[in-house]
Amino acid sequence: MTIGLKENIQKFLQELQSFDCKLIAVSKTYPVETILEAYNQGIRIFGENKVQELLPKSEALPKDIQWHLIGHLQTNKVKYIAPFIHLIHSVDSFKLLQEINKQAVKNNRVISCLLQIYIADEETKFGLSFEETKSLLESTELENMNNVLIKGFMGMATNTENEEQIRMEFKSLKSFFEQCRIEIQRKNIALSELSMGMSGDYRIALEEGSTMIRVGSAIFGRRNYI
Ligand SMILES: *Cc1c(COP(=O)(O)O)cnc(C)c1O
Repeated sequence: MTIGLKENIQKFLQELQSFDCKLIAVSKTYPVETILEAYNQGIRIFGENKVQELLPKSEALPKDIQWHLIGHLQTNKVKYIAPFIHLIHSVDSFKLLQEINKQAVKNNRVISCLLQIYIADEETKFGLSFEETKSLLESTELENMNNVLIKGFMGMATNTENEEQIRMEFKSLKSFFEQCRIEIQRKNIALSELSMGMSGDYRIALEEGSTMIRVGSAIFGRRNYI
């Protein structure tokens, strides 16, 4: 048994009761046994950031798990997850979206996606700007992609102690989201999800309207990077 896992999960499920928000348990780096413990506590949505780690886990674990890809996705890896992935949070280019659509066609599926939007004051984070997002959503090329469904946006705030900064970043994403919801009506766009908030900043994200928090270490304990 992983120490504290059950208590951590109970705490999150209880905290989320008053919000319309889903918990994505980020299981990257944790072994299959630990994920199964969380599964036995009722968790059904797990997030992984690497395709090569997600594949063996998805094969070993129960089939009613909804797997979410939350990390940067290379176009040449899309084919491996296309048969089963429930939601891709990290679509950050038109080229990637095209490949997801192509692989979705091959698998006779519609794959749900979030566009990853850059809101942090950092150089390293992937993502689209608001302008790039807008032009992607309004492009004629997107209109012809019948096998992707854009369900919303994902954003990561700056890794800082400054809560006001984090809150402003989440607020800006939320207001852009609401603006796009009003302005953009298309058959393969149905903006309902806003994936924001991790272990360190999920409370702020909840207050600012997150519909999906992605929580790893606050559930599973500290990750050991080997
Ligand atoms: C690792 C990761 C998380 C979870 O991080 P914690 O701080 O452990 O909660 C959330 N989102 C993304 C994109 C991640 O890579």
